[in-house]
Amino acid sequence: MTDTLLPSVTDLPQERRLVTELPGPRSRALMERRAAAVSAGVGGTMPVFAERAGGGVIVDVDGNSLIDLGSGIAVTTVGNAHPRVVERVQRQVADFTHTCFMVTPYSGYVEVCEALNRLTPGDHVKRSALFNSGAEAVENAVKIARAYTKRQAVVVFDHGYHGRTNLTMALTAKNMPYKQSFGPFAPEVYRMPMSYPFRDGPHTGAEVASWATTKMEKEIGGANIAAIVIEPIQGEGGFIVPAPGFLPALKAYAEQHGIVFVADEIQSGFCRTGQWFASEHEGVVPDLITTAKGIAGGLPLAGVTGRAEIMDAVHVGGLGGTYGGNPIACAAALGSVEAMEEEDLNTRALAIEAIMRERLEALQAAHPEVGDIRGRGAMIAIELVKPGTMDPDPELAGRVSKAAHAQGVVTLTCGTYGNVLRFLPPLTIPDHLLREGLDVVAAAFDA
Ligand SMILES: *Cc1c(COP(=O)(O)O)cnc(C)c1O
Repeated sequence: MTDTLLPSVTDLPQERRLVTELPGPRSRALMERRAAAVSAGVGGTMPVFAERAGGGVIVDVDGNSLIDLGSGIAVTTVGNAHPRVVERVQRQVADFTHTCFMVTPYSGYVEVCEALNRLTPGDHVKRSALFNSGAEAVENAVKIARAYTKRQAVVVFDHGYHGRTNLTMALTAKNMPYKQSFGPFAPEVYRMPMSYPFRDGPHTGAEVASWATTKMEKEIGGANIAAIVIEPIQGEGGFIVPAPGFLPALKAYAEQHGIVFVADEIQSGFCRTGQWFASEHEGVVPDLITTAKGIAGGLPLAGVTGRAEIMDAVHVGGLGGTYGGNPIACAAALGSVEAMEEEDLNTRALAIEAIMRERLEALQAAHPEVGDIRGRGAMIAIELVKPGTMDPDPELAGRVSKAAHAQGVVTLTCGTYGNVLRFLPPLTIPDHLLREGLDVVAAAFDA
């Protein structure tokens, strides 16, 4: 059992260490201030306040050291406070913090676009534009696809998640907590069946794709569709990996009808699945690709990248925003990409997958509640069901997650039915911590 120690692991001891009960007294005091100052509408997974983080740990304000199996929702792929990110950000923040790229541009923005154009799938000529959040990137991808095709309809899928703004709420499938009482939603959004191998029975990817394309043809008409927007591996929807052939068949339908195929790789991109982008696992080359989360080591940044003729179809001034491609966020992105390349984090994601699958398969053998293990690379989940049935068991997922939290392991749940435990460790987590974190989760099942 050799341990993989990447150069990015900080001086923080890479250990789980509980010195108080969780939450400790300082976190409890901060939780009280939070309740008095912060809107109750902002959700919370753990009542524990962070003070430092790096490698595979988050250290809280009481001195507890937690194992991080969440990466702040797939963001700190290169780990927290990665030296490459810190160096570049410190230099940039001292030079200048903002000019607005649309007013007086700066090289960092161009360099991030060059990196996106180089790293995303396909060797066609590409252009990129930068934004602040994933939702903003998805909105802009739809704007660009509509401007290019001069069509309005947008196709999305069951279990899809694309953000919390008005248009992206419409694109998102799940009502609670994302949409409840926030309507009316944007029009011209159509939802299609998604390939969900665990729940589809014997149907192949091509079959489910044909249900979707037939529905598109009959209910919308291919010639009216501007964009098909899909996560190549669904994130919030439950780490659903579509059956082989599903994505290529949708891409073929898009090509046949002049529809812009948009891969939302905001959660699955940037080495998370063992490839730069999850579309690559099936050789799918999207026309547009949206990125955010893992792109900039924790700083807010998002991008839309795609075929030059599509990206350039928008009138001058049609894309932008005050902060989009902020220079500090761009510096962080360049540091993150450098770290991913230097440390070969795609290979690291596959090594993490091997460790997770071995441990989770043993868990499944002992616990019939574990209905499915799925995902790719360092994006792996288990779906929990009532034994012997396909009935979702969200209560168990919640209980196991809470028990792991109490033992100092940060875990997240997801899924339309809330019954999926997902694991998104930073790729800089040492092996021993990953194993210990999974052991804690397994012990929670036993208890
Ligand atoms: C998180 C996420 C978004 C939204 O990103 P924000 O930065 O939270 O706006 C969109 N699509 C996918 C697939 C995501 O995982």
